Amino acid sequence: MEYSPTKMQKKLNEKQFNFKKNFGQNFIVDENIINSIVNKSGVNEDTLVIEIGPGAGSLTYKLCEKAKNVLCYEIDIKLKPILEENLKNYSNYEVIYQDFLKVNINENLKKYEYKKLYVVANLPYYITTPIIMKIIEDNINVDKIVVMVQKEVGDRFKAQPGSKDYSSLSIFLQYYFEISKIMDVSKHVFLPKPNVDSIVVEFKKKESLLKLEDNMLFFNLIRDSFKQKRKTLRNNLKGYNLEKVEEILKKHNMDLSVRAEQISLQLFVEIANHLK
Ligand code: SAM
Repeated sequence: MEYSPTKMQKKLNEKQFNFKKNFGQNFIVDENIINSIVNKSGVNEDTLVIEIGPGAGSLTYKLCEKAKNVLCYEIDIKLKPILEENLKNYSNYEVIYQDFLKVNINENLKKYEYKKLYVVANLPYYITTPIIMKIIEDNINVDKIVVMVQKEVGDRFKAQPGSKDYSSLSIFLQYYFEISKIMDVSKHVFLPKPNVDSIVVEFKKKESLLKLEDNMLFFNLIRDSFKQKRKTLRNNLKGYNLEKVEEILKKHNMDLSVRAEQISLQLFVEIANHLK
């Protein structure tokens, strides 16, 4: 692989490839960043990696070196000849040229044997959250997700109570995963250079999940609690049994004048289970 912006651009020109903004195409052209992501992800010969959006293969190439297999999903068929050339030395990868949001991942996983399933990717930023939601909702039992995302979005994923970024999405994701930042990434390592800063975040599957009496009730409760961020729980949770909500809040020295942004995951679980 050739990692300098000029070399990458030259190669892409040879194949008459034009970047498509609407597909979020910003390719990494810095080998150090790629090495850091792959090394910190902990991918090894027991791992099947899913990569969403291999682009020209900058990350795929290093993943192929470390992983047992790499299963890629790429929406842009124009990248096929470029990927084939850049990855010609590897046979442990497959690229499915489809929109990741529409694929049946479980079906695609059937032919693979692996001990650990990781997702490692520099995500197309326009669909970061739908991609993460699909990974969770398709129930593929992923052990770890290591993804490059827009900084503001990553901050929301890992936000803690009391922070301005804390939202129902933070709680939903943190119900399943321990989320932490692995590193900041400068705009200058991409071709073309994006307008936003990026971070790499890691989602590690929680070994045991907090016990929920009713999952739907919990997920509706967190969504409704944040419906209007500035409002109190009393206002946002009008359709709920507020007496019961307050019983739990009182145990934690709070009342219904509290805002959702002050309530931890554990406390939301306790409220939801008491409402059941
Ligand atoms: N992994 C490459 C890298 O780091 O250099 C490219 C990353 S680029 C930010 C995002 C990639 O996702 C692009 O190759 C783009 O074509 C692809 N992509 C965009 N939308 C997609 C979708 N819905 N399904 C699969 N791939 C998608």
